Amino acid sequence: MTIELYDANTVKEAVDLLKKHADRSAKVVAGGSDLVGGIMKDFVQGKGMPRPEVLIDLTTIKDLVGIKVAADNITIGAATTVSDVVDSKDILAKFPILQQSAASVASPLIRNFGTVGGNINQRPRCWFLRGEDFNCYKKGGDFCFAVTGDNRYHAIIGGELCYIVHPSDMATALLALNATAKISGAQGDRTVPFDQYFTGPREDVLRENQLKAGEIMTHVVVPNAAPGTKMGWTKLKDRQVYDFALISVAVAFTVENGTWKDGRVTLGGVAPVPYRALVVENALKGKDIKATIKAAAAQIRTVARPMSLNAFKVDLAQGLIERTILEALGS
Ligand SMILES: Cc1cc2nc3c(=O)[nH]c(=O)nc-3n(C[C@H](O)[C@H](O)[C@H](O)COP(=O)(O)OP(=O)(O)OC[C@H]3O[C@@H](n4cnc5c(N)ncnc54)[C@H](O)[C@@H]3O)c2cc1C
Ligand code: SF4
Repeated sequence: MTIELYDANTVKEAVDLLKKHADRSAKVVAGGSDLVGGIMKDFVQGKGMPRPEVLIDLTTIKDLVGIKVAADNITIGAATTVSDVVDSKDILAKFPILQQSAASVASPLIRNFGTVGGNINQRPRCWFLRGEDFNCYKKGGDFCFAVTGDNRYHAIIGGELCYIVHPSDMATALLALNATAKISGAQGDRTVPFDQYFTGPREDVLRENQLKAGEIMTHVVVPNAAPGTKMGWTKLKDRQVYDFALISVAVAFTVENGTWKDGRVTLGGVAPVPYRALVVENALKGKDIKATIKAAAAQIRTVARPMSLNAFKVDLAQGLIERTILEALGS
């Protein structure tokens, strides 16, 4: 099968091409480390996940590349490489957890061509999904092989029908930073806060975010944090080489005399979407952090529904929440 590749020069051109080739399952591509290097190479496809005959390159659109600093936020173009985020002094100064999460993505080589938009919108890594022999719900089939199969890396929160964990490290940090996605499509432009950007299987098992057919993410806007905000990032992996998160935790919070004023606690590797642990935030609000942290971190147990082989991830999540918040507090 041949694949047509178009280099778009503007967002409008990319959106027009997506519309024109919709009947050939056209998709946008950036670094290609997930779409081409994984999904297409491994013939990951099905009724609900057709193989694209047309690819539209976004990295040729100048407007989508770069990091812009304004008085009250930083805007990152979706085709900016992950390495550019890692190397940005502005991002390090304002949002160290975004820099750390980016630095934890894959390997230096992949970060050099993998992009921010590709990282946030990459497809899940469930090993049944990535195997061509398993026609599961997410490919349009009628079964979830993780329910009876090896589910050690699957969701412990929010799974239903499908038990993937969202694979993006940067998305977990961006959710903690209350970022917003800018989106363009044939119907115009819109912005969606990261709180609402990701879609779980209950809403639609065939996708992981709010992008409608023919839409692309153009930028991510990260608002300045309140002065004195404490931030922390921890990623636990199975292997001490490049790997996806077994559990990751991002925190951003304000403190007054050791008391939690306001903030966010987000987790990767636990749910089909980057997960905001409101139960933990609520348990900490207005309380002395050191005195409350153990009980607050244990609140994650009240929302966890582990599968047959992954109850260990609940213990890891609880411990990592506690450690990340205490480390941020001390910094
Ligand atoms: C060996 C390996 C290890 C990895 N490890 C990690 C890891 O530890 N942590 C992690 O977070 N990720 C990891 N990744 C995942 C991912 O490949 C990289 O994170 C990279 O950032 C993806 O960017 P890309 O530009 O190459 O994406 P592409 O492959 O070009 O695109 C990925 C998907 O996003 C869509 N897309 C791309 N840009 C946009 C846009 N602007 N708007 C809408 N949709 C878009 C594409 O259509 C495609 O479906 C790993 C990948 C590999 C191959
Ligand atoms: S967890 Fe989701 S992606 Fe994995 S086999 Fe089940 S339905 Fe498919």
